[in-house]
Amino acid sequence: MRLILLGPPGAGKGTQAKRLEERYGISQISTGDMLRAEVKAGSPIGLEAKAIMERGDLVPDAIITAMLAARVSAPGSAKGFILDGFPRTVPQAESLDRMLAEKAMPLDQVIELKVDDAALVERIAGRFTCAKCGEGYHDSFKQPAKAGVCDACGSTEFTRRADDKAETVAARLDAYHRQTAPLLPHYAAQGKLRQVDGMAEMDEVTRQIAAVLGAG
Ligand code: AMP
Repeated sequence: MRLILLGPPGAGKGTQAKRLEERYGISQISTGDMLRAEVKAGSPIGLEAKAIMERGDLVPDAIITAMLAARVSAPGSAKGFILDGFPRTVPQAESLDRMLAEKAMPLDQVIELKVDDAALVERIAGRFTCAKCGEGYHDSFKQPAKAGVCDACGSTEFTRRADDKAETVAARLDAYHRQTAPLLPHYAAQGKLRQVDGMAEMDEVTRQIAAVLGAG
């Protein structure tokens, strides 16, 4: 199964992609996670991307597309994948269309998580993750069961993304509306676009996605 999760920052793409990964045994491919790993490693891509990401702008298409091509061709993606945070521009979507056509690996569905902008700032500004296993939490909506201890792995270290500050979120939302929203008609024209209510509670969103994928 090959899927794209589309939606603004904070819509829940990462959470839902992880659930799909477990349920269907396919790989989550998050260009944001890949870039954060490059930044952490201090690689040439990371050095170029760091300031752009901190401003809330998009990293140039050529860098992202090359990074993605390598990942889609990796053996771990043979069973399928969920793209989370890619494509984000029309040229990226066109590159992906070409890449998948060459490999005879068509996309199955593009799922849009629809969320109101007003809800996103609160969702994003409160989120944090376990530094060890990446489990996601939120100040208001999902604290660890035992304060300061990760439910999933027991680690006591947590991190917050540098670009989750309220000031940066506005720029990220603007980039979404200007550069990424035009992908909706692109995929609608291919007959692949499906929508789910990203404002619903997390388990309900998971249920709606499963329904869209035909698994009730
Ligand atoms: P995310 O974790 O998906 O919210 O991505 C975090 C940041 O990484 C974005 O605000 C962009 O600066 C950059 N980024 C991630 N994916 C892409 C992409 N497909 N194209 C351009 N920039 C990206």
